[in-house]
Amino acid sequence: MTEKIRVRYAPSPTGHLHIGNARTAIFNWLFARHYNGQFVIRIEDTDLARNVAGGEKSQLDNLQWLGVDWDEGPDKPDPKYAPYRQTERAKEGIYQRYIDELLAQGKAYKSYKTEATLKAEREAQAAAHQAPHYVYEYAGMSAEQIKEAQAKDEAAGLKPVVRFRVPEDHDYQWQDLVKGEVKINSKEIGGDWVIQKADGMPTYNFAVVIDDHLMDITHVLRGDDHVSNTPKQLMIYDALGWTAPKFGHMALIIKAETGKKLSKRDEDTLQFIEQYRELGYLPEAMFNFIGLLGWSPVGEKEIFDRKQFIELFDEKRFTKANAKFDAKKLAWINNQWMRSEKDKVMPQLIGELVKAGLVSQKEAEEKADHFAKIVEVAGVDGIKATSEIAPLAKYPFFQLHPISGQDKEKWLDTDDGQKVIAAFKEQIEKLPENDFTAEAIMKLIRTLQADLSIKGRPLWNPIRLITTHEVQGPNLPEILAVMGKSWTLNNIKKTIG
Ligand code: GLU
Repeated sequence: MTEKIRVRYAPSPTGHLHIGNARTAIFNWLFARHYNGQFVIRIEDTDLARNVAGGEKSQLDNLQWLGVDWDEGPDKPDPKYAPYRQTERAKEGIYQRYIDELLAQGKAYKSYKTEATLKAEREAQAAAHQAPHYVYEYAGMSAEQIKEAQAKDEAAGLKPVVRFRVPEDHDYQWQDLVKGEVKINSKEIGGDWVIQKADGMPTYNFAVVIDDHLMDITHVLRGDDHVSNTPKQLMIYDALGWTAPKFGHMALIIKAETGKKLSKRDEDTLQFIEQYRELGYLPEAMFNFIGLLGWSPVGEKEIFDRKQFIELFDEKRFTKANAKFDAKKLAWINNQWMRSEKDKVMPQLIGELVKAGLVSQKEAEEKADHFAKIVEVAGVDGIKATSEIAPLAKYPFFQLHPISGQDKEKWLDTDDGQKVIAAFKEQIEKLPENDFTAEAIMKLIRTLQADLSIKGRPLWNPIRLITTHEVQGPNLPEILAVMGKSWTLNNIKKTIG
């Protein structure tokens, strides 16, 4: 690509960062980084009623957590393009200038229809099995008559919106980076649409064109749900005599299990970055998973870091088919990342023990190596998120369950059980503290097996019970080695006296 790439992520601060929006941000970022272009953040906050306090901050924090940085944005303004919040741009009159231009050219007009009239029209259309569409109120009227009608409405205190006069029967066509050739006729738009609301704010489809143009955006990569907006945006580019950027609409994200569109309202599926962050998913894994939603490199490999994604990025490799959101795959990717980045994740894993109240912060810091071993033996390699470690490690590393009556009867009160216990106790007491390793303990148990001619569960379960109170659990010699000789002897003493 020879032109200088300028792409943007344009969140509306209406809530937390959703997987779908994170994907938009990530691919625009990859596009920019791959081609040495610029990645811009613009805040689309003109829908005042939907803005939530802290929405912008939370979006940006989560982007940063994912490892996505930006070259320009509200906090990094380039004077040539600032400001980067649409409400601030509105205050500067940036949109008004173009609204006025379109009004002056007769490409837009003030519309005074009340909500009640609009509602009645929609209902009548529904009753007549028509698609909802706006009915032009000044049809057949001369310029003079229109002026008069508007003056009357104005005098009656009605507040107008500004509507764009949609060209009749015009095909809007573009070569979509993802979907190929797309063509939508102006008939499908639903009639003249609002470009400026009664409160003076521009609508999304209008503001986005003005900003993308003024910010020299070359490519717009966004979700499939925006396809129907693109013809509206193209007509504004045409009306103002501007060249539109290239568009790419990335595949719809669907739930793997149901094949249905991922919906923000579906509370069964975790779909906000923050939720995964809280569960202890790694940013590298989230990035990795999202980077494969609707895009794939050549080959079978699935684990990539950001640098590799930047190198591999190719705008020709977006998939047309729906992108499957598969939580199991995400869990697998996170597990792969946790294993390969174990040293880096360890403080977070130990932090989970602190969070669960199993250990104090001070102790966790002082004996970090010890807790790292516990985490390892408790089964870190099998978990999908760091938050799963505390329940796994709680027993027997921090607490012991009481031995069940059934286990006692079956494994401890038998002749074999008694033999094993007596022999194990005698031998383990003799094992020197500095040789209290998993290998030495394993060897000791193997010797008992030979000496007593008892093997399998009748050998292991009594030992497990008197040391950990459970007949199941992680590798026993490793548990004992990590917890140490005095812990082991203490437990035995408490159990059998
Ligand atoms: N603010 C829009 C959104 O949140 C941006 C869409 C676009 O990229 O044009 O979906």
